[in-house]
Amino acid sequence: MLGIDLITISDEAWRLEARCQTDEPGLSDVFFSEEIRDIARAKSICAECPVMAQCLEGAMARQEPFGVWGGQLFSNGRVLRQKRRRGRPPKKPRPEDQLPHIPVPEHLEQLLRTA
Ligand code: SF4
Repeated sequence: MLGIDLITISDEAWRLEARCQTDEPGLSDVFFSEEIRDIARAKSICAECPVMAQCLEGAMARQEPFGVWGGQLFSNGRVLRQKRRRGRPPKKPRPEDQLPHIPVPEHLEQLLRTA
């Protein structure tokens, strides 16, 4: 049992460097929001996170059901490249509806499941 705990702790040590680990009130909500503006902000935070690859790899392994992890938006274990606003789509795409593209590390690109 002790050995398993030690492995888990060392595997998760990268979380100490996570940019989302701050005291900013409400920041964690941004990573699990349905609002495009929030999702875009979460992805932008991830883009400057020193542990983005480890975070994304973990989220892929867990098949995260929801949220922004490692710069990508997850839904039922798959990565969504884009998210539509509720309601009828506009005739002309709105710039504010575009999510920032955060590149996936090359070694994970092949393993990525997209929707
Ligand atoms: S990549 Fe994003 S979600 Fe993952 S630890 Fe960094 S800031 Fe947090």
